[in-house]
This record gives sequence, C-alpha cells and structure tokens, in this order.
Amino acid sequence: MTGVRSTCPYCGVGCGVIATPDGKGSVQIKGDPDHPANRGRLCVKGAALGETLSTGGRLLSPTIRGQEATWNSALDEVAARFSQTIAAHGPDSVALYVSGQLLTEDYYVANKLMKGFIGSANIDTNSRLCMASSVAGHRRAFGSDTVPGQYEDLELADLVVLVGSNLAWCHPVLHQRLMAAKAARPALKIVVIDPRRTATCEGADLHLALAPGADAHLFNLLLCHLADQGQMSADFLAHVSGLEATLAAARSATAAETGLAAADLAAFLALWAGTERVVTVYSQGVNQSDSGTDKVNAILNCHLATGRIGRSGMGPFSVTGQPNAMGGREVGGLANMLACHLDLENPIHRDAVQSFWSSPTMADKPGLKAVDMFRAVEDGRIKALWILHTNPAVTMPDADRVARAIAGCDFVVVSDIWPTTDTARLAHVLLPTAGWGEKDGTVTNSERMISRQRAFAAPPGQARADWWQLAQVAQRMGFAGFDWDGPSALFDEYAALSGVAGGLGSDFDISVLVGADYATLAPTMWPQARKRGGRFFGDGRFHTPDGRARMVPVTARLPEVTPAAQPFRLNTGRVRDQWHTMTRTGTVPRLSQHLGEPYLEVHPTDAARLGLAPASLAEVSNDLGRSVLRVMISDRVQPGHPFAPMHWTGETAPTGRIDALVPGRTDPVSGQPASKSAAVAIRPFAAR
Ligand code: SF4
Repeated sequence: MTGVRSTCPYCGVGCGVIATPDGKGSVQIKGDPDHPANRGRLCVKGAALGETLSTGGRLLSPTIRGQEATWNSALDEVAARFSQTIAAHGPDSVALYVSGQLLTEDYYVANKLMKGFIGSANIDTNSRLCMASSVAGHRRAFGSDTVPGQYEDLELADLVVLVGSNLAWCHPVLHQRLMAAKAARPALKIVVIDPRRTATCEGADLHLALAPGADAHLFNLLLCHLADQGQMSADFLAHVSGLEATLAAARSATAAETGLAAADLAAFLALWAGTERVVTVYSQGVNQSDSGTDKVNAILNCHLATGRIGRSGMGPFSVTGQPNAMGGREVGGLANMLACHLDLENPIHRDAVQSFWSSPTMADKPGLKAVDMFRAVEDGRIKALWILHTNPAVTMPDADRVARAIAGCDFVVVSDIWPTTDTARLAHVLLPTAGWGEKDGTVTNSERMISRQRAFAAPPGQARADWWQLAQVAQRMGFAGFDWDGPSALFDEYAALSGVAGGLGSDFDISVLVGADYATLAPTMWPQARKRGGRFFGDGRFHTPDGRARMVPVTARLPEVTPAAQPFRLNTGRVRDQWHTMTRTGTVPRLSQHLGEPYLEVHPTDAARLGLAPASLAEVSNDLGRSVLRVMISDRVQPGHPFAPMHWTGETAPTGRIDALVPGRTDPVSGQPASKSAAVAIRPFAAR
C-alpha cells in the first residue's frame, strides 16, 4: 500500500505524517515533507505512532450494562434514555462531554445535536482544561476567538517570548522550528518566562524564573514601561479602546511581586520595548489559572498598545495543547459558543444557525462549563451524560469526586476505543469508537491550519466513527438533518454554515471549501484568500461592535497563601514523551525510557526539610486526594513549588493520579480550572 497522508493525533502543532502499512500489520510513520506545519519533522511521540496501533484490548462491540449488544440495541437505548430524560426533566438535564481528540466533523454533529435539536448548550470539552482562558481573552480583546499569529511568525520575529510554555516538550516540532531559526539567525532572541527551569530554557537567551502566578504583574509592568518610554503606537491606538483605564490598573503592579532580579526584569523590559518584531507565545502556564483570562489580556494589552499584532513576525500567539482544540473552537464546541465564531447570546446569530439547520429549537443561553457540568452530574441536575473520547474520571480537577459523580449518574454513555479506562468502567452503555488511522475527518492546528486525518486501516470489530454514532442517535430521537453519507458531506455542510457566518461578519468563513475534493484536501490555513497576508488585525479592524480592539484593565493578583497544613503549591504538567493518560504512548516501551514513572520534582531545600531522599517515595495529599510519587530532587523548581506530571493513573505506588489533588477552582471568565497551584502536604511515604 502506498503512503496515506494524515495528521498526528497528539499536540496542537498538527504535524503532517505519511502512514504506510506494510500489509503484515505494521505501519511505517514518517513526517510529511509537504505539510506546512512540520516539513517532514516529527517529535519522538509522533515518530512512534506506528507502534501504538495494536488493536489488542480494544473495545470491539457495544455493551449495555456490561453485556455485549448490537449497535441497534445500544443506539436505541441511548436515544430512548436521552429522549425520556429530556421529556421528564427538560433539555438541560442531559449533557455531552467531548474532547479535543475528536475530529471537526464529530464536533460539528455533537454541537448541532445538542444546541440545535435538544435545545441545550450543555456541551463542553476537555479543551476547557487547556485553552479556555485564551478563548475568553481573545473574545474580550478582539470581539472574536481569532488567533492572529502563525508558526512562521516565530521564525520571522527578532524576539520570541515564551510565557508558561515548555515548548521543547509540549510542542516539540514548533520548538525545533524555532531553534532552527535561531541557529540560522543568532540575532533572534528568545526569552522564557516560567517559574521552572524547563528544557525550553536551554535554548533561550534569558530565563525569567517568575514568582508562580505573577504573569499579569510582569506584563502590567511592561505596559507601564512602554508608556513611560514613549514606546506605544499612537497610530495603532486609534484602533484600540480602554488605554487609560488599563494603564491605571497596570500601575498597581510592583516589581517585587514578580520575584525577579532587578537586572533581569530591566533587561526583559528593554528588550521587549526595543524590538519591533516580537511574538509572545503562551500556553497552559498562563491559561490554567483562576486568573488566566486576565493574564492573557495583560499580554494582549502590550501587543495592542504597540501595534505589534497582525504583521509578519509579531503578535500574541496562544498555542493549543490538543490536536483539534482549535477545530472544536471553530465549530462552537464549547458551552458558551456557537458555531463558526458566532455568538450564542446574539439572537441574530442564533436565528441564522437555526434557520440553516432547520432545527426545531436553539439553545439561547450558555450551558455548563466542564467543572460545573460535573457538579451538576453530582447533584442530579444532569441525569444523562454522554462522554466521547476522554477520561474525566482521572483527568478532571478533583478527579475522585468527578468519578463518584459519574458513578452516581442515572445514565452514562461512553464512546471510546478502550473498555478499561476509569470512565469507561462507569458507563451504562459503552460504544466502540474508531481510533486514529481508522477514521476520516479534519483537524485544525494552533495556527488555523485545517488538515485531513485519513484512514489507512479498518476499525477493529464493530468500532464506528463518533460522528456516525451521534448522527444515529439523533435520527433515533426523531431529528432530521443527520443523514450524511460520510464525513465529506458533513464537512461540506459545516463549510456552508461558515459562509452564513461570514455573511454576518464572522472571520471564520471557509465556504470556498464547499465541494472541494475532500479526499485530496491539502492543508489549508484560513482565511484562504490570505487577505492581509493571512494575518488578522494588522489593518486595525476587529470584531467588536465599534470595530476597535479592547484593552482590558487587569488588576494582577497572586495566588492566595496556602493553608499551614498544606504549605506546598503543586504545579502539574506534561513530560516530553507521553500523551495525556498514556493509553497510546504508554504502550510503547521506548517512550518510557525518558521518564518511566510518576514523580515529584522537589527543590533541594524542601527535600532536606521533609527528609526526602532521591528516588524515595513521597506522599502528596490534600483534602481532595492522595498520590504517591517517586522523588526527584532538583533546583529546576522553586522552593515550595514542586512539579508533578499528570499522565500516570496507577493504583499502586508510585501512583500518579495527580488531578485528584487539583481543586475545581476556576477562572471566573473562562471557567478554566487552576491546574498549576494545588495546595498540598508532602511527607515521606510509608506503606500502610
Ligand atoms: Fe505530533 Fe505534536 Fe510531535 Fe508534531 S510536535 S509529531 S503534532 S506530538
């Protein structure tokens, strides 16, 4: 078989791959030299994709309460239970919890079913845990969730600032591109702003080991410095509102709160202010905070004040964690959004989408965001829940509580490739899903590049695509408009809807792709016309009612002081060679050679005080849960701020299960949980 062009299913870089099955069960994976995101590069995870494709242990047929069932009986059961629940308790008594692993076509059907036919916006996604603060920050500043940058901006910049982003481990190929650009042009400066000294710092000119949580303080200080040095752009500020109030709020930030040495702080301020082509990349270290949206806006404020946006080699740039977090945003797969960058709370937008769908109803208020959704499951407001392609029983904040809530829910459907995840084990109905390499669709990466995922193998057993499962249930609930004959027709409908949205002023209009040859669709960055060089906002036109960007006053605040009984702030994140809960990467032995078990990275002074020896076990606990981790002593973390990766979910020591310790505290604007500052106690582990 010749090679099949597809897209890596891991991170938001969205690298193109060529998969070549050998006909004997093995698949060779290479980077696609023609894909604009990676030009043939792959990271170690992507390169090992061919080793993750064994179908051993896969879920092969639907089950109802643990008994094997036919698709007909399982789909009938789901449709009947959802219909009965809605009839008895109203549309808000049901919910869908979906995933950035879904393809755009899957996302589209889920969103259409929930918002346009069930009539509730109770559809949210695990991407809420990843980038919701960036979405909210964009919408506050730009009037739309539009990412203005693209990857080549990192290569064209003279200064790249990475904030709360361990790009080297979490977006490795984008980091490779940045390092290659710096090797070719040493004048390109790189600054890393991160409380931890991560692998990304090794390639940086300057590392600012910021006080944890002080990102908004730093960018407020930068804004004041830009104003004081006369470095703002009077021309661009004609397209921006809110400067005076924003500057007044920024004045309350103090250098002491950043925890930085005066010389380092001064060097950063001078470098940023004195460089025209600046890209500020930010990621989970900014987003995963209970003031994440404010932190995003503090960054955006500096770019807006200087007009460093929407032009080659400059701009703020949020990079997404998951392969299709961006596609989910575009399709409106969040509880507070409508499709194609339309506004759920705008009656004109709602009417247009309802008319396009010929749907009987339309959700007219935001639904429950992820954390609130599982609280509603817990207290019985949500009585029927369908979870697709994600494992919230171990990945949601306060995971043990979420697992108990799912276990207590009247009716739970799980679509997954494995029958053994913590969440799948709690399902009343379990639906076998096609995995990567077995399904067709599209994804959008962090720079708005729409790429195809293509099947090169048949799904095992009776596994079927997620969009098909959703469409079948919709039809069995009596809804019309769910009878696509494949993902190509689905994509055409979605692209046509984007044309309606474009007519209402949305920037997300890919209607030129209606009728395009889906089979051969090449990676396409929208807007296709490459108007304004493919970048948004350089012309000073934004999607707000008055067309001007909004600077948002940010009163920076540090995390609250930890309670005496739980004096440490636990930072959580990823390691280089694993992905999420390791259901795929954990099957490849060589990916465990980098870091092979769950660990707690703790500063030497903390380790000495606690009596922790290198490679011993430590118990990390708080009111929510407990985890046992291997001790790694390192001055890469700050005293009082240990780090633990979130991938492992074992039952025996060392256990992982880090999200069981993370509180369900969220950003008030975005609803994104604060996953990097759990208050915990630490002590040497003694087996009981
Ligand atoms: Fe896959 Fe991301 Fe690695 Fe690219 S950088 S190969 S998208 S995991």
